[in-house]
Amino acid sequence: MSAADVTASIVAVQEDIVRLRLTDPEKGRLMKNEVVYIRPAREPNQRLKAEVLRVMGAEADAQVYESTVGIGLGDGVEQTGLLLSVRLGPGLLGQVYDGLQNPLEALAQGHGVFLPKGVAAPGLDPQARWAFSATRKVGERVRAGDTLGTVPEGPILHKIMVPFALDEDWTVDWIREGSMTVDEPAARLKAPSGAVRTVTLAQEWPVRRALPRRLLDKGYSTRLYPSEPMVTTQRIIDAFFPVVQGGAACIPGPFGAGKTVLLNLIARHSDVDVVVLVACGERAGEVVETITDFPRLKDPKTGRSLMDRTIIVCNTSSMPVASREASIYTGITLCEYYRQMGLRTLMIADSSSRWAQAMRETSGRLEEIPGEEAFPAYLDSAIKGVYERAGVLRTNDGSVGAFTLIGAVSPAGGNFEEPVTQSTLAAVKCFLGLSYDRAYKRFYPAIDPLTSWSRYRKQIESWLTEHMGADWSARIDEMIDLLNRGEDIHRMEQVAGEDGVSLEDFAVMEAAKFLDMVFLQQDAFDAVDSSMSLARQKQLFDQVYAIVTSRYHFADKEAARNFFTRMTGLFKNLNYAAPASPDFERFTGEIDALATSVAVT
Ligand code: ADP
Ligand code: MG
Repeated sequence: MSAADVTASIVAVQEDIVRLRLTDPEKGRLMKNEVVYIRPAREPNQRLKAEVLRVMGAEADAQVYESTVGIGLGDGVEQTGLLLSVRLGPGLLGQVYDGLQNPLEALAQGHGVFLPKGVAAPGLDPQARWAFSATRKVGERVRAGDTLGTVPEGPILHKIMVPFALDEDWTVDWIREGSMTVDEPAARLKAPSGAVRTVTLAQEWPVRRALPRRLLDKGYSTRLYPSEPMVTTQRIIDAFFPVVQGGAACIPGPFGAGKTVLLNLIARHSDVDVVVLVACGERAGEVVETITDFPRLKDPKTGRSLMDRTIIVCNTSSMPVASREASIYTGITLCEYYRQMGLRTLMIADSSSRWAQAMRETSGRLEEIPGEEAFPAYLDSAIKGVYERAGVLRTNDGSVGAFTLIGAVSPAGGNFEEPVTQSTLAAVKCFLGLSYDRAYKRFYPAIDPLTSWSRYRKQIESWLTEHMGADWSARIDEMIDLLNRGEDIHRMEQVAGEDGVSLEDFAVMEAAKFLDMVFLQQDAFDAVDSSMSLARQKQLFDQVYAIVTSRYHFADKEAARNFFTRMTGLFKNLNYAAPASPDFERFTGEIDALATSVAVT
């Protein structure tokens, strides 16, 4: 870029916000969310990326995605006329990006682990070659979002689609097959207006805009109602508080309650095609752990590296706050892109609180009118806008794709009344609340069954009826009721002592504890127990249900306690045993023998 491209200059700097002014207001204009580059006079090799947040005539405030140390008054600013965008195309899977889609590995290779300022690398490898097979012929009519051909990318067939922003109906004028890079022409389209457009394997999309919005407006794609569960293989979620394909869920919990462990389990085992992990503002150590763990893990279904279907977008607490915000939108756009191919995608954001805090800092620096706890007044709508981008779509070619979004929330002190948790609760239909008490007792996953809820269980009732049994949802409600009664009796016992509790109540309390221990709790670190198929969950649930709803005749409390303690031990062993293994058969036999050893009234 030459000095001729400089169209504005810096007139003020305040932390990571700069104010810029057009050099010639007669000639140009500034646009909200436009990307600009700052050229510090003292560092001629740097181009610092920034995004315009607010335009005031010939001036604008922009947030800088880098440290602003070294920026001086009068420094030149280049305008791009483009919104903050991601590059979409084959080669996204397996990447570790920062919030601005710079591949961290490529950056790290060139520049060491710590990224120097103002360095950017292409989001898609310009050298990689992809085998493109055309599915359209010359003369065929196509519209935005239609598939032109495919490219194998790891475990998936990547659809190359007509750029989503294109208007009009187009005719394929020229198309070729074979090996090509993301920058080489793959096809040429012609419009009745005479316009010609060359298409490559890659395209760009502005991250703050829902990718299918125009496709939906034009009726090329349609939104569908979520109707199937997204099986996480975690029993307390799938059976009690299910997440659906295309749904939105949140996992609030205090520090150390197990959010990251649970999210990683979900990322690893859920039945989706593509996972985008957004590590947002957490401590660098945790993020590095995820980045090093994932490539080593195997996808339990395909046996390939888990990284083959995963994209990590990572912003640690030591990176600039502005890119923390961008990382959430970048992750969402990547998921929307793969959904448009008819795939099931899942984004996991850990943690969305850090994103909200970034918004708060920026809003404070812009001196906007603050809302509750100094968060911006638009916190609610920003959070809603994020979770609303999840959903199920019928895409242009009739295939169905889903984008599921699960966000961790880390409220200070575990106080769920604070604004970020409350706004998130209003935006999602599944709340998996982690409790400090359960984590302290090492009841993992520490999801509290007495406060958590999922509206999706009713929404997918017909699916559950078909696959889990006619009275599934009613029996789950019955079990939640049992847990509540068990808790009430437990409280009473704490006040009145064991003698103050009737034998019948005592047995209810023991049954509730047993249900919790053997069904709700699940060992994340056991090879078998860490992940349980839905079919096996149903089998286990049926067994547990039969036991806790039997009216056993216990001679006394000691007999009741003894029975449930032994049952708990046997079921725990059963959960650790691979189905159909000799151990599995043995424990099943012992469970049956114990169950029939007590008289039923
Ligand atoms: P958070 O992200 O909520 O701060 P983490 O997920 O990092 O918490 O969990 C903190 C610690 O709790 C973990 O390092 C681990 O020792 C323990 N832990 C969390 N979840 C589990 C689990 N499912 N099974 C066993 N230990 C767990
Ligand atoms: Mg964590």
